[in-house]
Amino acid sequence: MSTQEPKKNFIREIIDEDIRNGKNGGRVQTRFPPEPNGFLHIGHAKSICLNFGLAADYGGLCNLRFDDTNPETEEIIYVESIKQDIRWLGFDWEDREFYASDYFEQLYGYAVDLIKKGKAYVCDLSAEEISDYRGTLTAPGRVSPYRNRSVEENLDLFQRMRNGEFADGSRTLRAKIDMSHPNLLMRDPVLYRIRRGHHYRTGDKWCIYPTYDWAHGQSDSIEGITHSICTLEFEVHRPLYDWLLDQLGIHHPRQIEFARLSVSHTVLSKRKLLELVREGHVSGWDDPRMPTISGLRRRGYTPEAIKNFCDLIGMAKANSIVDLALLEDCVREDLNRRAPRVMAVLRPLKVVLVNYPEDQVEELEAINNPEDPNMGTRKVPFSRILYIERDDFMEVPPKKFFRLAPGREVRLRYAYFITCVDVIKDPKTGKIIELHCTYDPATRGGDAPDGRRVKATLHWVSAAHACDAEVRLYETLFTKRDAGEVEEGADWKSNLNPKSLEVLKECKIEPSLKAAEPGSRCQFERLGYFCVDSKDSSPEKLVFNRTVTLHDPWANIKKAGKENE
Ligand code: ATP
Ligand code: MG
Repeated sequence: MSTQEPKKNFIREIIDEDIRNGKNGGRVQTRFPPEPNGFLHIGHAKSICLNFGLAADYGGLCNLRFDDTNPETEEIIYVESIKQDIRWLGFDWEDREFYASDYFEQLYGYAVDLIKKGKAYVCDLSAEEISDYRGTLTAPGRVSPYRNRSVEENLDLFQRMRNGEFADGSRTLRAKIDMSHPNLLMRDPVLYRIRRGHHYRTGDKWCIYPTYDWAHGQSDSIEGITHSICTLEFEVHRPLYDWLLDQLGIHHPRQIEFARLSVSHTVLSKRKLLELVREGHVSGWDDPRMPTISGLRRRGYTPEAIKNFCDLIGMAKANSIVDLALLEDCVREDLNRRAPRVMAVLRPLKVVLVNYPEDQVEELEAINNPEDPNMGTRKVPFSRILYIERDDFMEVPPKKFFRLAPGREVRLRYAYFITCVDVIKDPKTGKIIELHCTYDPATRGGDAPDGRRVKATLHWVSAAHACDAEVRLYETLFTKRDAGEVEEGADWKSNLNPKSLEVLKECKIEPSLKAAEPGSRCQFERLGYFCVDSKDSSPEKLVFNRTVTLHDPWANIKKAGKENE
C-alpha cells in the first residue's frame, strides 16, 4: 500500500497551495518534536510518518527536535529510546538532531527583544494569583499590578531572574497582550518561570525555563520550519504563536493542526503510560501490551505494519477512536506475507499412535509459507508419540465441532490420518491424560488413496523432538473500547483488563525453532503470529509473544453460541 500515490488530504492541499504561491521559495521543512519524558507510542508514529513522509514526498527535510524545556520530567534514556524507535520505523533525520535546550540562550535573547519592544513584563504575582487574575470564558481578566513596569526595570528584573536572585515561583516573565482577550491563552501568558531544576542537558546553568508556549513556536522558527504540524489541541494556541512571531519579526512557520490518534482499548498519553509502568501494571515501557513503539516491536509488529496503519487511517480534523482491530489487521496482513509457518502446541495433549513402530522416526516435508513458494520447505520429525492441542479433542463433541473425538478420523498436517480409539484418564481426577489413536500408513502426506475425506486438519509436534517453550498470550490492555470511559470519580485505570496477559509454560514447539533469534517472527499454524521475546528468550528457555491471532472461525461460532446448531 505504501507504494501507491500518497493520499490527498487537507495538509497536502495547504502545502501545495504554499508551493504554488512560492512561499518559503517552495521549500518544505517539517519536524517531529517529541518531549523526552516518555517512550513513543502509536500516536507519535502517526506524527512521525506524517512529518517525515511529507518531507520525503515534497523533496524537503524533516528535523528531529527534542522539545526539552522541562527539567523535571526529561531524561536521556527517553532521548535514546525515541531515536531508536524512529530509526526502527525507517526514518532518518540525518544531521538534523536538535534540542530546544540548545536554543535557551537564543530564546532568552528573543525575550529581551520582547521586553525592549514593551511586549513583555516581569510579574510578581504567584501562580495562583495569575490564574485568578486570568478571568474566565465569560469574565474578562484583571491586569497585573506589575504590568506597567518600565522597560528598564523589566530588563533588570529579568536579568536578575536569570542570575538566580529570586526564589522559585516568585516571579515570571509574561507577554503583554490583552487581559480581556476572548482567548484565555492571550491573556498575558507566562513565558518564563523561575525553577531550580537540574536539566538533563544544561545541568544547573539555568534557573529560569521557557514555557512550552514560548519555546515551541520560536524553536520552529529558528530551524526554518515551513509547516509546523501539530495536534488539534494546539489550534487555540495558534493566535498566541502567531502573535509572538509577529512581534519578534522572525521567520513564521505555518501551523497546521490534525486530529490526535486514539486507539480503542488502550491509552495514548505518556503520563498515563508512565503511571502504568511505575505502578507495575505492566513490566515496562516495552511490555508487549503497551501501545508504545517499543512494546509493539517486542510484541512482533513490523515497521511496515505500523506505517501501513498510519497510511490507512489518514488525516482527520476531528478526533475519533480508531479500532485496535485495524492495527491488528495491518500486522496480520504483513506477517501473512512473510512469516514462516511452523507447528507449535500451546496446551499439549499426548497422543500415542498404537500401530506406529516404536523406534521409527520419519522426516515429513512441510511448506514454509504457502503465500511465498520461494520460502521453500523443511523437514519435520514424526514419531509414535505426539502432542496435539488439548482444544482439538472433545470427548463429547457438539454438532459443529469437527476435530478429534472418540472414533473419529482427522488429518495431522503434512502427516497421516489418525483415528481416536481410546481415551486415557487420570483415575483420580478424571482428567484426560492421553489419547490412543491408530494411523493409516496409506495416507502419508495427508491424502487417502481411496478418496476418503476428513473434516479437520490438526497441527502437532513429535514428543521426543519438540522443544519446550513459554508462550505469552495477550488480550487488550483495557476492557472498554473507550479506555477512558469510567464511572464518575473512578480511577482512570478502572478498565484495566486483569486478563491481558496469559503465560503458558509447557508449550511444545517443533525443533526447527530451537535456534530462533530473539525478535524473529513466525506463524504457529492455526494459532497466530508469534515473535521470539527479545528480552526473556534464550536458547535454553525459548519465550514467544503472540503478536496477533489468525482469524479463527471456530472462536466466532463459539462466541455466537451456535456450536450446537
Ligand atoms: P502525550 O500526551 O502522549 O505526552 P504529547 O503530545 O505531549 O503526547 P510530545 O512528545 O509532545 O507528546 O509529542 C510529539 C509529537 O507527537 C507532537 O507533535 C504531537 O502532536 C505528536 N503526537 C503526540 N501524541 C499524538 C497522537 N496521539 N496522535 C498524533 N500525534 C501525536
Ligand atoms: Mg507534549
